[in-house]
Amino acid sequence: MPKSKTKYVFVLGGVMSGLGKGIASASIGYLMKSRGLRVTIMKLDPYLNVDPGTMNPYQHGEVFVLDDGSETDLDLGHYERFIDVNMDKRNNATTGQIYQSVLDREREGDYLGQTIQIIPHITDELTRRIRAVNQPHRYDVVICEVGGTIGDIESQPFLETIRQMRLEIGRESCFVAHVTLLPYIDASEELKTKPTQHSVMKMREIGLEPDMILCRSDRAIPVSVKKKISLFCSVPQSNVVEARDVDTIYEVPLRLYKQGVGQIIAEQLQLDGKSADISKLELFIERFKNPTHELTIGLCGKYTELPDAYKSVIEAFIHSGVENDARVHIRWINTELLNSDEESEEHLGELDGILVLPGFGDRGTEGKVYCAKYARENDVPYLGICLGLQMAVVEFARNVCGLTRANSTEFNRRTPDPVIALMPSQLNVKKKGATMRLGAYDCNVSAGTKAYAAYRKKKISERHRHRYEVNNDYRKILEKRGMLFSGINPELGLAEIIELKDHPWFVMCQFHPELKSRVEKAHPLFREFVKASLNYKLAS
Ligand code: GLN
Repeated sequence: MPKSKTKYVFVLGGVMSGLGKGIASASIGYLMKSRGLRVTIMKLDPYLNVDPGTMNPYQHGEVFVLDDGSETDLDLGHYERFIDVNMDKRNNATTGQIYQSVLDREREGDYLGQTIQIIPHITDELTRRIRAVNQPHRYDVVICEVGGTIGDIESQPFLETIRQMRLEIGRESCFVAHVTLLPYIDASEELKTKPTQHSVMKMREIGLEPDMILCRSDRAIPVSVKKKISLFCSVPQSNVVEARDVDTIYEVPLRLYKQGVGQIIAEQLQLDGKSADISKLELFIERFKNPTHELTIGLCGKYTELPDAYKSVIEAFIHSGVENDARVHIRWINTELLNSDEESEEHLGELDGILVLPGFGDRGTEGKVYCAKYARENDVPYLGICLGLQMAVVEFARNVCGLTRANSTEFNRRTPDPVIALMPSQLNVKKKGATMRLGAYDCNVSAGTKAYAAYRKKKISERHRHRYEVNNDYRKILEKRGMLFSGINPELGLAEIIELKDHPWFVMCQFHPELKSRVEKAHPLFREFVKASLNYKLAS
């Protein structure tokens, strides 16, 4: 059997969900990349939805959109932010997609009358997808995170696929990292290893065993505990790694680096690579922990109880805070509570900057209008993202242009002034899945604007996820009253970035800048928004 040139690292999880397998995968990616290797990361999701695009953010968190318009799991956001590689639809596969393609082929008659089964047909399709990420060959290492927890019925075909692949390509090309939890029991003052042991037993039932165990814990793991895990789970003690809670997720690669994780993986996979250079990340953490300034930004929207729904926005503030030598405190503002100027003053009065979040559905939208009004009238820096642009345009139309009943047709189909409306191409769309304006679109930025000052270039590309647009029939009146259309999509002529002329920093975009902010490379609009908010704070 020819040996595979691509090296695979599979990241599995045991004990329970939510242990940060995504961060672990992204961190291993960072370590591999810092050794000069070319790396990509993919995620296999066990659910039956074809993609998370239609899933409730309460259940699933943010939908992360890629350049090619695919709507993916939020872990893809971590991958891109950590390793600074643009991913595409091949980097995320769900059980729903796997079954859909196998069943489509069955209907086409491709299987020539065979009985279609989980093994080999589903597992073969899984193997094909895992390999497809590196076709044509561009990467030295493919990291593959498997969603779900060992023992879940849904994950079984994934584990079987990894077992088969490992058999085929050998341990020198296939590394299995297992993320588990060591709970601390107060009464006995002990970190317990039994759940980890059990999850490894469960893994063995299918014929797999880990090469490394990453143990999440809230405290240092004593050597005796590591020894025990090593003995019961058959991994060398050096490969029992402490993954302690940290102040910022960007510290995880550093902690893993210090325990030799990159080196251990590189050795088993016989990867030459240089020794790792992580000095930039060290500097980033140092600046994150010791900022000169502090400021508070309000994140205004409706899913404010569930920060995972806006994961990328929160991360973008970490990146842009560090670049401004500032700690950005986030205050969640539920816009359903804003129904008057007085309530705006009460909830927004102490903020240094106001960000109105993206969203769907009309709950809390009138409160977003109040946020935009407050920022405009009080010279508070404002960043509006997608719905945050749309509601600020509604506000401006109503209160500055005198179109008092202006609205988005998403919220009032019969408004006399539909300043935000559907594009003709959206009018007859009935299906919900993957039918929005999705993914990367070009934008021409006008010189001499705040947008230009941020990007410092005229041609940019940003990611979208929405149906409604600024109605160009209203562009003239909006411009006449002081809006500046500073970014335009050249093919469709649609507004991408709008700003207010007579305001220190009021910038809004129809796209999602948060999806392209990366560690050590903050997004220009977030960076400038934080800078403007800091200036506002220092001046007041
Ligand atoms: N609901 C709006 C639209 O579909 C905004 C979407 C968003 O904020 N992502 O256009």
